[in-house]
Amino acid sequence: MSTEQPGLFDEPEATPAERAAPSKVINPPQAFLPGVNYEQSYPQISSLQELRSLALKCRNCRLRDGCQQVVFGEGNPCARLLFIGEGPGKDEDEAGLPFVGRAGQLLDKILIAAELKRSEVYIANVVKCRPPGNRLPNPDEVKQCRNYLEAQIRLINPQIIVCLGSLASQVVIDPAVRITKIRGTWLTRQGRSIIATFHPAALLRNEAYKRPTWEDFKAIRDAYRALPAR
Ligand code: SF4
Repeated sequence: MSTEQPGLFDEPEATPAERAAPSKVINPPQAFLPGVNYEQSYPQISSLQELRSLALKCRNCRLRDGCQQVVFGEGNPCARLLFIGEGPGKDEDEAGLPFVGRAGQLLDKILIAAELKRSEVYIANVVKCRPPGNRLPNPDEVKQCRNYLEAQIRLINPQIIVCLGSLASQVVIDPAVRITKIRGTWLTRQGRSIIATFHPAALLRNEAYKRPTWEDFKAIRDAYRALPAR
């Protein structure tokens, strides 16, 4: 009889029942955004860089005809905190970067006040091309472009998503939500925490939105600090 003892971390041998069990079925990834057809959200793309390259060549909607360039998004590709705005404005269209105009400068100030570094988060928009005259993107333009947003969420894999303004809230949370009602409320979907707050551009138009937005950012900061290390 062998006197050999199994090592401390040896794998126990599989039982006959375990050997007969079928291998684990891995469910295909599901769409995160309501109403998105995941199959059209570039599931074959496995890096943010690859997705950016595809988006920069995109002509899937008319917005590309009237803008200078596609504004894909900016930040830490592994960010645990993702901000989603509406779409690029004139300054963003010129710079090729999101949130660099007056609203972006205000967002920077809010991030600094909340002790969040822009370089550690990721900032994207619902549509990647500037709507002419800064109009709201049309539903068909949003429908085309949200596949990129869906893929960005999959590839960045943030634990907290912050919707800035009505459009982002309606695309990410529910088409029927109103920003004045939903802001400041935490939701969970597919293991991610989601919160909506006012868009910085709205704060430039209405001072009264500053206080509730700051309350939301304090909650975002606290939730971010409380995240377990990855
Ligand atoms: S807005 Fe989006 S879908 Fe439309 S052309 Fe630009 S990147 Fe493509």
